[in-house]
Amino acid sequence: MSNYQSLLRELPAVDRLLREPLLDDLIKQLPRRVVLQAAQDTIASYRQKINSYADNDQDIQEKFDLSPATLAMEAAALAERNAGSNLKALINATGIIIHTNLGRAPLPGAAVKALSSIAANYNNLEYSLQSGTRGSRHEHLENLICELTGTEAAIVLNNNAGAVFLALNAVASGREVVVSRGQLVEIGGSFRIPDIMAASGAALVEVGTTNKTYLRDYEAAVNENTAAFLKVHASNYQMVGFTAEVNTEDLADLAYRQGLLLIEDLGSGVILDLEKYGLPFEPRVQDSVAAGADLVTFSGDKMLGGPQAGIIVGRKDLISSIRTNQLARTLRVDKFIIAALEATLRLYLDEEKAIKEIPVWRMLTADAEYLKQRASKLAEGLRDIFGIDTVSVVKGVSRVGGGALPAAELPTYLVAVKLHEEDVYPTELVERLRHTDPPVILRLQHDTLLFDPRTVFEDQEDTLVNMVKKAYQG
Ligand SMILES: *Cc1c(COP(=O)(O)O)cnc(C)c1O
Repeated sequence: MSNYQSLLRELPAVDRLLREPLLDDLIKQLPRRVVLQAAQDTIASYRQKINSYADNDQDIQEKFDLSPATLAMEAAALAERNAGSNLKALINATGIIIHTNLGRAPLPGAAVKALSSIAANYNNLEYSLQSGTRGSRHEHLENLICELTGTEAAIVLNNNAGAVFLALNAVASGREVVVSRGQLVEIGGSFRIPDIMAASGAALVEVGTTNKTYLRDYEAAVNENTAAFLKVHASNYQMVGFTAEVNTEDLADLAYRQGLLLIEDLGSGVILDLEKYGLPFEPRVQDSVAAGADLVTFSGDKMLGGPQAGIIVGRKDLISSIRTNQLARTLRVDKFIIAALEATLRLYLDEEKAIKEIPVWRMLTADAEYLKQRASKLAEGLRDIFGIDTVSVVKGVSRVGGGALPAAELPTYLVAVKLHEEDVYPTELVERLRHTDPPVILRLQHDTLLFDPRTVFEDQEDTLVNMVKKAYQG
């Protein structure tokens, strides 16, 4: 004889649950409706579990503790979770610096400070303090970007996908744009060059082959309806072996001779010399400009290390037609982007400062010896939790992420935690770490938990250890 009916009767009523001291106290801190909902949901989930036995005509094997105190504890945990923000800060221990799923670039302190001040106050977003009349939001950033990239004009939009779209729409709508077949890439999500091109109203003309495209391929595709060549940084994918691409300079030269434009989508937007820091070569924005590209587009929150944004630099007349394009308004930046981007760009005026204070660059250039020290310190904290023989420091690699330098392996030291078999499942621990406050995201490789100190800020180390302790103890 099944006993679900009696179990169902045993379930406390919502009112009874709310009288538990734990929930009664919680209502003083959280909105009553949140606590009430959590109590209802907790009871409902038990009812559902019990009913599922009834539906399957099964005897109940589980042992249910349906005391109000136990359910109140679960309801309280649920209420606290539900009352917290959905978007929250977390600790990135994956070692992927520009992690698109984890919000890409964390901002430098100067940008955070600027954001906070602009957010809480009125500001001169569209007001000229000089003349006391209406001003333009675009003016706050243009000079700075021009100075850093050696261009004559610039505009900042909401993101780089939008920047590419708007550039094409403004200068090539209804006309043809020639692209190498080796550069018809998809860059995460749904940004595909052919689709963006179609949406912009420009007609795509493919030239070359997947692995090789020559200058003569571009040349042969030109007709009276051609508006531009588009060169796209392959970003998250790399061609090796039997390959050929036309460099910006040669392509710009051909475009010039044919009376066409060259648009280059650089993706990441590097303005420092990566090789100087022992990193693989990556074309800089100013190199493309100097090589003769008429418009260059790049992201604000990849290697630039600032807020989400799409930056277009280039010829004044072209930037001006982008600015007055009907669709510019749909992609315009808000005051927060402007504030954070200006503060980030100002750091680039002093390269040493940029490397030190822009988190993306600090992490990119962190040297192995320093990372080894950090890993050792972290390992010490974790050994107190897991025991000495469970935790070790091993060599490994960090990644740039965000579609930048996909093949680059940055040497690092990882803290490896190999749990004993009778211990908690590694997957279970990883899941619990997603629910700590703050959550900790890490790597799991063949049952070994891996923590990369490169993307963990120094002031997060203690918290990280505490969260792991919490998660481990259930
Ligand atoms: C990342 C990337 C984009 C899209 O930039 P968002 O800022 O994410 O919109 C476009 N083109 C290239 C080459 C990219 O790498």
